[in-house]
Amino acid sequence: MKKNFLNTFKTPFFYYIESYGCQMNISDTEIIISILSKNGFLLTNNLKKAHIILLNTCAIRKKAEQSIKNRLDNLRYLKSNNQKIPLFGILGCLSKSEKYSNLIDFSIGPNSYRRIPDIIRLVMMNDEKKIKSILLSENQNETYESISPSPSIKKITTFLSITRGCDNMCTFCIVPFTRGRERSSSPYSIIKECENLYEKGYKEVTLLGQNVDSYLWFGGGLKKQIKKIDNNNEKIIDFSKLLDLLASKIPFMRIRFSTSNPHDMSDKVIEVISKHSNICKHIHLPVQSGSNKILKLMNRKYTREKYLSLIQKIKSIIPECSISHDIITGFCNEEEEDHLETISLMNKVKYDYGYMFSYSPRPGTYAYKKLKDNVPENIKKRRLKEIIDLQRIHSIFRMKKYLGTIQEVLIEGKSKKNNQDWYGRNTQNIVVVFPKKLSKIGETVFVKIINCTSATLIGRIDD
Ligand code: SAM
Repeated sequence: MKKNFLNTFKTPFFYYIESYGCQMNISDTEIIISILSKNGFLLTNNLKKAHIILLNTCAIRKKAEQSIKNRLDNLRYLKSNNQKIPLFGILGCLSKSEKYSNLIDFSIGPNSYRRIPDIIRLVMMNDEKKIKSILLSENQNETYESISPSPSIKKITTFLSITRGCDNMCTFCIVPFTRGRERSSSPYSIIKECENLYEKGYKEVTLLGQNVDSYLWFGGGLKKQIKKIDNNNEKIIDFSKLLDLLASKIPFMRIRFSTSNPHDMSDKVIEVISKHSNICKHIHLPVQSGSNKILKLMNRKYTREKYLSLIQKIKSIIPECSISHDIITGFCNEEEEDHLETISLMNKVKYDYGYMFSYSPRPGTYAYKKLKDNVPENIKKRRLKEIIDLQRIHSIFRMKKYLGTIQEVLIEGKSKKNNQDWYGRNTQNIVVVFPKKLSKIGETVFVKIINCTSATLIGRIDD
């Protein structure tokens, strides 16, 4: 049936895909490419050649939504009135929001990617009824664990989603509504996939989850279905056990993970990171705010004090570990003293780097429905600038510590600024740029650090 459908076109059926937002979306795009190529569709990076144009979207902030709308406006010229091809498909988190462009032929959410070939076929046949019934039968337990991601370009590093959805219900966050409840992939399929990736030439994998530390395998299904966790049950695999297993099974593969929620990061995970040289010494630990009042309003389930003692524990067990953050500024009811608490927390931690956002109310979330977005835009902007400026000072402070040291760097590709230089990252996830000499992409080299900016280390390979 599928073959017949594609054979009705004289030329091969080409699709073009763009990815927006987080690492998980990039990883999902690789899964979508895998599904479509197995079904006979051909990837093109030439928009004008494409029979289908797919945008894999993000809904985390209004700005992300706006950029998709702008992109659709830019692409409108490709489809003149009453023309069927190219089909426009919206994938990912925005697919759940109201229809916002008459250009779109179909929308598919993050749990229904296996059905994309069927839906394209039904759209071509104008079978609205069947499309609706497919979309209504969304698989809430979907983990895509049997599908190997296919990147569109050859790379040395890759992402692998090990948990999907989120149960944390942070009051600002749209993720539980767009991606569903939390579930984990089987450890056996994760190990097998990582071994496959290593055999294919990948040197580094980043394990992904909205809240990766809360990974839990108890045989499958949604995490909320497990009533009580029996820590002595050998069959139950938590994140520390998974990391330990993976690091031992593929000792020459670098392993990273993201994102950790401070509430879920256990001592066991910190110990496993310190035990294995192939688990990278970097933890992305979003704090969101330094004020207990705001953390409570955000439903983050930890306090400033608990967060700071977690940082202390990490630093005492893994002194060389770098720490990065996410912070939201201008959340509902944030007063000047709350903002100053965030600044004082940043001064205590002196993060290596971080991602900072001004609060963007998302329809459907608790904060949108129950709290007032009452910090004026100009104050949000000013506070955001203050924390970005402060982070720059801390980043430079951290980067200067590397001057004169030798860093072990995995070479990932050509530097964007100079063709004669490579770029790669050290275990702390800091970008290092240096002249190529005789080294090759995929090699691990030792680089002497001679200079730095707030985001990049500059070095050389000594003979
Ligand atoms: N699940 C992770 C966590 O909550 O720790 C991070 C996931 S989210 C894709 C990445 C970041 O976007 C969050 O850590 C938060 O700082 C930011 N973010 C999420 N919702 C936001 C909102 N409504 N407004 C502004 N920033 C937001």
